[in-house]
Amino acid sequence: MKRLLPTSTAGSLPKPSWLAEPEKLWSPWKLEGEHLVVGKQDALRLAVDDQRHAGIDIVGDGEQTRQHFVTTFIEHLSGVDFEKRETVRIRNRYDASVPTVVGAVGRPNPVFVADARYLRAQTDQPIKWTLPGPMTMIDTLYDAHYRSREKLAWEFATILNQEARELEAAGVDIIQFDEPAFNVFFEEANDWGIATLEKAAEGLQCETAVHICYGYGIKANTDWKKTLGSEWRQYEQTFPNLQKSKIDIISLECHHSRVPLDLIELIRGKKVMVGAVDVASDTIETADEVADTLRKALQFVDADKLYPSTNCGMAPLSRSVARGKLNALGAGAKIVREELAA
Ligand SMILES: [Zn+2]
Repeated sequence: MKRLLPTSTAGSLPKPSWLAEPEKLWSPWKLEGEHLVVGKQDALRLAVDDQRHAGIDIVGDGEQTRQHFVTTFIEHLSGVDFEKRETVRIRNRYDASVPTVVGAVGRPNPVFVADARYLRAQTDQPIKWTLPGPMTMIDTLYDAHYRSREKLAWEFATILNQEARELEAAGVDIIQFDEPAFNVFFEEANDWGIATLEKAAEGLQCETAVHICYGYGIKANTDWKKTLGSEWRQYEQTFPNLQKSKIDIISLECHHSRVPLDLIELIRGKKVMVGAVDVASDTIETADEVADTLRKALQFVDADKLYPSTNCGMAPLSRSVARGKLNALGAGAKIVREELAA
C-alpha cells in the first residue's frame, strides 16, 4: 500500500431495504432466484459507490451477498445440517439456535469467489475480502461429529485456505479473517486458535488480516461490554503471539472503547487497522474525532503501518448513519495524512 493511512471498513455495510430488512442481523432476503442474484450485485455496487464517495482506499463488498458473516460461509459447506439445530451459547454471551456438524466437513464448491470477482471488476482500488476465522466458526455450531473444538477448527482452517487461495486468484489484495472469539477464549486462541488461523492463511501471497473486536452494536454485545470493567485488556492476552504470527495486519476496536491504546505496542511491527469509528452508536463521528483517535494510535503504530478503519461491521446501522460514518472516516484520515505530510 503506497498511500499513507489507507482507509477501509471492518467489513459489513447496511443492505438496501429492497434487498433485506434493514437494521437487523440475519435479516431474510426480500428477493428470490435470479432477482436475488442481481439484487445482491446491485447492492454490492452501491456499497462500492458509498466507499468511493467517502474516499475509502481499500474497498470491500460491504458483505452485501451474505446474510451473516459466519453463517453464510458455513451454509455452503458439506457435513453441516442446518435443519438439525441445537441451542448453544455464542462467545459465552448469548444463546442461539445453531446448525449441527453431522459428518466430515468439506467445501464442495467455492463460496464467495464469484462475488469477489464481481467486486474486482467494479474498482481499480485495492480490495479486501472478509472470511470468518476458524475459531469463530466453531463457536457458532453444535458439533456432533468431531466432538473436539480444536479438531473442527483445523478442518475449517483447511477449508478456509482453499477458499482464500481462490479469492487471491480472483484478485483480492487483502484477505481478512474475523476472529472476535479471540477476545473471549484466550487460552484456546493461544493453544491452537492462532495456529489454525495461520493454517487458513498458509501459502497466500496477498496480504492477510485478522479482525478482533467487541462485536456489532447489538444488545447482547453492549450488555457484555458493561461487564468488562473500566479497562478492556482482552487484546493483551493474544497480542504477543499474534505479533509473532505470520498474519500481516491486525484489525482492532479503538474508538470509544475502553481498550487502552498502549496495548497496540504489543504488536509493534505489524500493520494495524485502527477502529476510529464506533459501530455501537448512531452518533456520527466528526472528522476531528476520527483524526484524534488516529493521532493517539500513532504513538504506538508507525505511520506507514496505520490503516484507519471502523471498529467492526456496520450491518445493523441505518444506511444514512453508516454513510455518515464512512465519510467521517475518510475525512478524518485525510486530516492526519495532511498533518504527517506537512
Ligand atoms: Zn467485528
